[in-house]
Amino acid sequence: MKSTRSLPAMIATLLASPLAMATEIDPQRLSQLDQDIQRATPQLIELRHAIHQHPELGNREFDTAKRVAKRLRELGITVQTEVAHTGVVGILHGGKPGPVVAIRSELDALPVTEQTGLPYASSVTVPYSGNDFSQAGKTVGVMHACGHDAHIAIVLGVAEVLAKHKDSLPGTVKFIFQPAEEGVPVGEKGGARLMIEQGVLADPAPAAIFGLHVGPGASGSLSISRQRTTAAADTFVATVTGEQTHGAFPWAGIDPIPLAAQIVLGWQTIPSRQMDLVALPAPVISVGRIDAGVRSNIIPAQVRLEGTVRTLSQAQRDDVIERLRRTASKIAESAGASAHIEVTPTYPAGYNNSALVDALLPQLKASSALAVDIESGVYAADDFAEYSRRIPGVFFGLGVTPDGIDPAHTWPNHSPKFLMDDDALPVGVRALSRVTLAYLANNGFNLPAGVQP
Ligand SMILES: [Zn+2]
Ligand SMILES: [Zn+2]
Repeated sequence: MKSTRSLPAMIATLLASPLAMATEIDPQRLSQLDQDIQRATPQLIELRHAIHQHPELGNREFDTAKRVAKRLRELGITVQTEVAHTGVVGILHGGKPGPVVAIRSELDALPVTEQTGLPYASSVTVPYSGNDFSQAGKTVGVMHACGHDAHIAIVLGVAEVLAKHKDSLPGTVKFIFQPAEEGVPVGEKGGARLMIEQGVLADPAPAAIFGLHVGPGASGSLSISRQRTTAAADTFVATVTGEQTHGAFPWAGIDPIPLAAQIVLGWQTIPSRQMDLVALPAPVISVGRIDAGVRSNIIPAQVRLEGTVRTLSQAQRDDVIERLRRTASKIAESAGASAHIEVTPTYPAGYNNSALVDALLPQLKASSALAVDIESGVYAADDFAEYSRRIPGVFFGLGVTPDGIDPAHTWPNHSPKFLMDDDALPVGVRALSRVTLAYLANNGFNLPAGVQP
């Protein structure tokens, strides 16, 4: 499909585009970079396997953080530890003046029991500490099923190759290793938001932030969106309250079960019948859990519906949550029952800075032998959005499906069989190093202040 933007708007964008500026990095520096990455790769693969074998859940990444801090210190990088519980921040001061830029990696793994059969597979089990009440008190397997082990190795690889030529580096690079991207234990704070509360975007304040995420895709392929990256994810619990009675005479009470069924279907008419599908892709509303009743012939007093709603902007988010409430309460009211919804916001929708994407795209194209896929975002959520709503951010994808497996049919992130091809690691290091070097060498492309949208 062609762009739906008007021609004058496109011309204005082109005239303002930093692409018109030189985005080159010194060629000698680039060939040195490639050699450095090649030399570092075997150790990075080993490091990734070690982290994979010893995964830790959110806010409990004690050993992972120690490993990261130790490596950063070995590289001569200034290190802060225990930021937002277990976060580690490395600051590399270049020998020449220039802007400050940040690169982010997550530290945490997931409560998933690994089934890859790999020689370095995780056999770690721990008492569950996440926010899913149905898992409370259970012992769970732990696995780097989202590939954050690869992110750690890649960002440490970037730190290594940039630290090597620290004296000629025009600016400062802040390496942010944050805990708990996948969520925090009940009653705790964490993740990107807590890192920011504890000052990670200040002193020195990065003017932009970069990050990548591994996922299904040809090994070593890169993908990026010019705008929307990830969705806002809100979880909700709806309680539909009727009146308990015998299953043989429902008229003696108020049956909340058919009402709950009507509400689930009613919610599906929000994206399909009530949203302007031209303005923005539709929200996703999914009910993942329904809980009610004790036995077959008792109509219960209450039904509990748990779900997630994925939206693509703050305005869409507020609008859809209002519609969720209205649909539930009016359907319940129609039978004399009531419905109450509690919404827990998790992450906001993520957006890339388009001007920065345009400026950095040549670096991504030069980082992989495969064509860069220009995509339009996903409905998954990531708290990288917390940074990129405050400072210009660029978040891109790295395909890690091993050769011989169809990326369209492989196990996705969070699967107990999620696979990560080690050959993709140096591509990730190259891409992040090149965008960082280009940003520093071009004084941040003199982008206008502020973030999108
Ligand atoms: Zn994940
Ligand atoms: Zn992830």
